[in-house]
Amino acid sequence: MKSFVSRICEQIEEHHGSPPNYVEVQALIQRFVKNNPEADPESIDWVSYYDPRLEYSEILQRLREAYPQYRWEEGEAGERYDEERYFQELYDYLLTQARDLPEDLRLRLVRELAEELGLPAVEAKRIEERIVERPPERPRKEVVVDLMMLAKYPWLPEGKQFVSAFSFEEVDERVYQRACERVLEAAEKGMVSAKLEDPLTEVLSYPTAVAIASYVTDRWLINRLALAEGRRAEKLLMVDDPEVLEFAAGKVLKTIQYIGDEYDPLRGYGDYKLRFDEYLKITTSVGLEREPRWKLANRVVYRGYVALTLAEVARIVRAYVQIAIRNVASSAAQSRGRLPARIRDAAEGIRPRLGEIVSKLKREITAIPADMPPCMKLIQQRLIAGEDVSHFENFAIAAYLLNTGRSVEDVLTLFSHRSDFNERVARYQVEHIAGLRGSRTRYRPPSCGKMLSLGLCVEAGKHCPRDIRNPLDYRLPKREVSNIEGG
Ligand code: SF4
Repeated sequence: MKSFVSRICEQIEEHHGSPPNYVEVQALIQRFVKNNPEADPESIDWVSYYDPRLEYSEILQRLREAYPQYRWEEGEAGERYDEERYFQELYDYLLTQARDLPEDLRLRLVRELAEELGLPAVEAKRIEERIVERPPERPRKEVVVDLMMLAKYPWLPEGKQFVSAFSFEEVDERVYQRACERVLEAAEKGMVSAKLEDPLTEVLSYPTAVAIASYVTDRWLINRLALAEGRRAEKLLMVDDPEVLEFAAGKVLKTIQYIGDEYDPLRGYGDYKLRFDEYLKITTSVGLEREPRWKLANRVVYRGYVALTLAEVARIVRAYVQIAIRNVASSAAQSRGRLPARIRDAAEGIRPRLGEIVSKLKREITAIPADMPPCMKLIQQRLIAGEDVSHFENFAIAAYLLNTGRSVEDVLTLFSHRSDFNERVARYQVEHIAGLRGSRTRYRPPSCGKMLSLGLCVEAGKHCPRDIRNPLDYRLPKREVSNIEGG
């Protein structure tokens, strides 16, 4: 049963892009098996009917309607499921069964339970301590800052110090070639590759690329290079040793701390913590707070520190790299006249190709229909420009486009601008939103109220009809319609 539930949970996570509530899925499957001992649980399409946005009772209702031939009542006497009992089941499950689960699932359980029951963080921590046995600390690796390390992470203070011994006039032509390649990769794909076979060229080409982008003096290009270099850093950190990530984070984040103290109530919510003011400064500078999970209100905070997992630390470092490049490039752009001739020549050399890339993007952005609501227009522009767009925003724009006559292929073409675009996964998700899979329900975009609460409503709906409730109800104001019709 356990492996069956785990497999279904993995499939649900792949399908919806976020992990399901393990206990909830298990409760549904157990309920089915108990009520229908002769039936095969494989005959139920759990993945399509489970929706993390729905309440347990709503999912159950969907299953009842889809499979009326099976019994779905609780217990032999058909006793009704109620919320209190469900929570009790969760609590019992947590205390008796969690030891057999992998650690990440155990911790997730505690967090979810605390949220559902409204338990304060310290209380939840106490429950966790009763069931979680921490493995002995692993021996820690020593971090050596060598040329390879700097090639991967040239934005480290050690990298800056290293490159200060070279001048733009003296470096090898290969450095310029790689720097131009970095800028073009960023402009075209929103991602810079890591070419580590020639570490010296790789490390020196980083500041050279920033200088070239500064010379071009285009805000879009600077932001694009910052985003792409940030993504490169995050990707490399995620596959490196945790000690390297800790080392790098410690160099660039002033208040990051490893949660070593076993009595720290934040332990269990992440292995690291960052002071809330630094957390806020970084997340708001790159728009991360648009994603619900990064909003401070949704984080576990204790005595001014925000708990972070290892992957979240890598994401924060990525944001740091983005901000650092934007700052350096903007101030270098102001004194572009003083940049060396080789930088100027390299920038002029790639300008025609950059022009083609930008014109293509502009063409796509101006092709966005004028009658789209401002919120959807903005998400679409950001997707085309290759900016970070949250799962929620992806869902909203896909549901909006599909409900206004666009095809699955149209939506996939738009999503192909994402640097992490995976056609198989995206197609599955878009077809699900379109109602071509699973429950055959076509999803509507989120309401204006929901968009507003997530900071996705443009200027609090100033450009929309006053009584609008859903972006699907948006109509262009009459004045603008006649402007368009009149050319
Ligand atoms: S009011 Fe509604 S349609 Fe208009 S921008 Fe806000 S969320 Fe979008």
